[in-house]
Amino acid sequence: MQNEKLFFSRFVYNGEFINRACLKKPFERNGFVYASDARIMVRVEKSLCEESYDPQGGLKSLPSFPAPESNYKLDLKELIEILKSIPRCETVAVSGKEAECDECEGDGRVEWTYEDSNGEEHYDYFDCPICDGKGKVKTKEIEREERAIAINGTSFKAGLLQKIAEAMNDIGLPYGVITYQAKNSQPMLIQLQEGIEVIIMPCIGIEPCRELHLKQANEE
Ligand SMILES: [Zn+2]
Repeated sequence: MQNEKLFFSRFVYNGEFINRACLKKPFERNGFVYASDARIMVRVEKSLCEESYDPQGGLKSLPSFPAPESNYKLDLKELIEILKSIPRCETVAVSGKEAECDECEGDGRVEWTYEDSNGEEHYDYFDCPICDGKGKVKTKEIEREERAIAINGTSFKAGLLQKIAEAMNDIGLPYGVITYQAKNSQPMLIQLQEGIEVIIMPCIGIEPCRELHLKQANEE
């Protein structure tokens, strides 16, 4: 597999949560190499990999990959086009759970700390200055990665779809196949090529800003 290290680096966890530290590197299990950030996971048949990976690493129990049942063609060019059409950062109207103020977490009140003339610390609560104490906002500046794209009616984070696009580009694949559409809290399954599969969880409660309608190979 070309660009193997780069390919796996797209999927590993880069955050600070201690309980996800085991996901910072790819790992080996039952004849496959896995990499995941807990929202997206790739598994590659070990025979396709040149590097060696830690069989003790990673999660104790792995999510199950749904059985393939469809063949929607996912074109890399089309995916890149739709990602690029979303501004890097944009002010958008928000509603519902998305409209919750990030500053006060929807509470409408924020805690302030101040020191008096004797050097003692005090706390007080004030109306949140971002939402004027309402707990909700009408617009937010949202980065591209946090926006949602609907694929055949189910929303996915643009940031995760971008990882898939980058990974496809790393190993030189012009298209992949969606072999299971996300439903009933099961993830979407994408076969990038024989022996390389990705699962990705849908995002709930985010209005998609773009839609991708894919056709099954036999509908063309
Ligand atoms: Zn607020």
